[in-house]
Amino acid sequence: MKTIAILGAGYGGIAAAKSLNKIFRGNREIEITLFDRNPFHTLMTELHEVAGGRVPSESVQVSLDKVFGGTKVKVQIDTIETIRFQENRLVGRHGEYSYDYLIVGPGAEPEYFGIPGAKEHSFSLWSYDDAVALRRHIEDQFLRASREPDEVLRREILTFTVAGAGFTGIEMLGELLEWKKSLAVRFGVDEAEVSIVLVEAMTEILPILPKKLRERTMGFLAKKGAVVRLNTPITEVRPDGIAVKDGAPLKTHTVIWTCGVRGCEFASNLDFTGGKDHSGAVSSDVDPNLKFNILKKGRLRANPFMQSVEFENVYLVGDVLWFSEKNRALPQVVETALQSAECAAHNIHADVLGHPKKPFRSNYHGFLVSVGSRFAVAHVMGLVLTGFFAMFMKHLVNFHYLWSVAGANACWEYAQHHFFQVKNGRSQVGNQLANKTPTYWLLPIRIALGAIWVVEVLEKVLKGWLDPSKGPVSSWMFSPGVHQAGWAVDAASAATTATGTDATAAATTAAAGAAAAAGPTIDLLKAMANPILSPDLFLVKWMRWFMDTFLSQINYVALQYGVVFAEGAIALALLGGTFTWLAGVVSLVLCLNFTLAGYFTWNTAWMIFASVTVLGGAGRVLGLDAWIMPWLHRWWNGTGLAKKTYWYVGEPRRKK
Ligand code: NAD
Repeated sequence: MKTIAILGAGYGGIAAAKSLNKIFRGNREIEITLFDRNPFHTLMTELHEVAGGRVPSESVQVSLDKVFGGTKVKVQIDTIETIRFQENRLVGRHGEYSYDYLIVGPGAEPEYFGIPGAKEHSFSLWSYDDAVALRRHIEDQFLRASREPDEVLRREILTFTVAGAGFTGIEMLGELLEWKKSLAVRFGVDEAEVSIVLVEAMTEILPILPKKLRERTMGFLAKKGAVVRLNTPITEVRPDGIAVKDGAPLKTHTVIWTCGVRGCEFASNLDFTGGKDHSGAVSSDVDPNLKFNILKKGRLRANPFMQSVEFENVYLVGDVLWFSEKNRALPQVVETALQSAECAAHNIHADVLGHPKKPFRSNYHGFLVSVGSRFAVAHVMGLVLTGFFAMFMKHLVNFHYLWSVAGANACWEYAQHHFFQVKNGRSQVGNQLANKTPTYWLLPIRIALGAIWVVEVLEKVLKGWLDPSKGPVSSWMFSPGVHQAGWAVDAASAATTATGTDATAAATTAAAGAAAAAGPTIDLLKAMANPILSPDLFLVKWMRWFMDTFLSQINYVALQYGVVFAEGAIALALLGGTFTWLAGVVSLVLCLNFTLAGYFTWNTAWMIFASVTVLGGAGRVLGLDAWIMPWLHRWWNGTGLAKKTYWYVGEPRRKK
């Protein structure tokens, strides 16, 4: 038995665990355990949306139970404090764990460059906790301002400063610019007193992006009222402001520090030298100062196979990894994490099999940067996109990633948080998909639909559907002429005496005759009594042939009993709000079937739409579904099928 331990459920850790699960799925000799202090994977690329009040905090959490429920990966929640490499052991707060192979992916931390007060008096945006704390702080500042009578102090409180115009800074700035209006309304603050300031040491924002995208972003920021101070390195951060090189200090009670990232403290404290190779010899390919710097920056050096240069059973993935490819250190971005993880998993497999390992080859696709919920810039695969298309691309990339992590369920949750549950129009399509109808407005339509099915059942019973001695009764539901308005009463008797599909034709003719006899009627009403699809249509003829050919194979007594009971079940389910979704689907299928067979008229068409409407949780108001559905969801989420396919309903229950 061999144990593969993965430290950290970030982008690299998750990708490595999923990859290893795929490789070793049927191999009982391999155990895979993923360690993290949190029971969830954090979507770091969306943290600014939580901090900026756009999406709820749970939208950046993907539960590890959900991701690995149907796999062989064991999830161990513990904070790993150190690693004893010589003994192949992880030392956690709650236990010690041995391993044969280890993948290290503890991530990164903000870099403060030793600037006085920067760490102590600023907010960072590099973890779930950071995002939640920052969001709370921003709301608190508006509350404080609303209680502050002194205008000067109030304006200072309402000055929000983003330090650093890299990707994180610009994304955070975009959220603030978008959020301030609704915050001002909510806390009764004058929006004109709110300042959103960007302070950047260099002469450009987003320096990695092409000029056109930088200019478009600058234009957008100016339009939204951001104060952009370029060429302004911050030299000190205080509780009530910042000092800058060659410029006036700025009074602000909120500094969001996005001036870059390093590796992590955890990595700096590990028993690595950064220089010796597997044989213990000091490697010569890296300048000793650089080696020292790598460690000082909390990053760990990997060889081309993503192994640590010191311990060959230890692999490195994600932001902690330092590797020079074509004389350039790999950037600390999601794609590095995913690709290094794939390489590490492949090479562990190769090691187990005794096959040669493959070296890392990067394949970067580019960058996508959102500035609020509606504007983005993208430089992807040589394409330069701005605005709507860039944002669309960003959503697509996120969907693609989430699909790979937790399938349909994760994608659905993302769609909920980014389109269906947004507030203040903060989505790419504004509020168009977000307005919700309270379920109690669905109650009348549910009852009406249930009632009409009761009527239909009663009618079938009266027509003798449950009386085998009457022989086959073949007039289907609401056939034209059977149910039409008063002016077609005669038609009803004509229809019921006729047989087979002729009944409909006879009834229609009779209805027309009756209508004519009743004098002039409004054409529309007449039209409403006609079938939605004419019996002359090929589709209808085919459908009738299908029904006649196949339904006639079934014993007519069984068929009639079956139909009456099915319709009765729909009626009761709808009236009692019990399994309403299922009742709605069956109702819809029957209605569409009757429509295609040319029996449904425009008078009854409402039932089709009502069947769709009740699918939206109509049984949860004054209905048993309020209890049944949560129970059913829990049961389903516990099944192997739900776990394997990620077709969970909502969030699966945490394993104890
Ligand atoms: P960054 O290093 O990309 O940008 C930091 C910025 O802060 C730089 O422009 C720098 O000049 C400025 N700065 C540094 N010191 C300063 C000072 N004292 N005063 C004023 N400005 C100062 O950092 P980031 O934006 O946090 O990104 C970190 C990593 O994460 C990067 O590799 C980035 O590519 C990645 N990331 C990617 C995305 C995306 O692809 N959408 C989003 C966020 C982060």
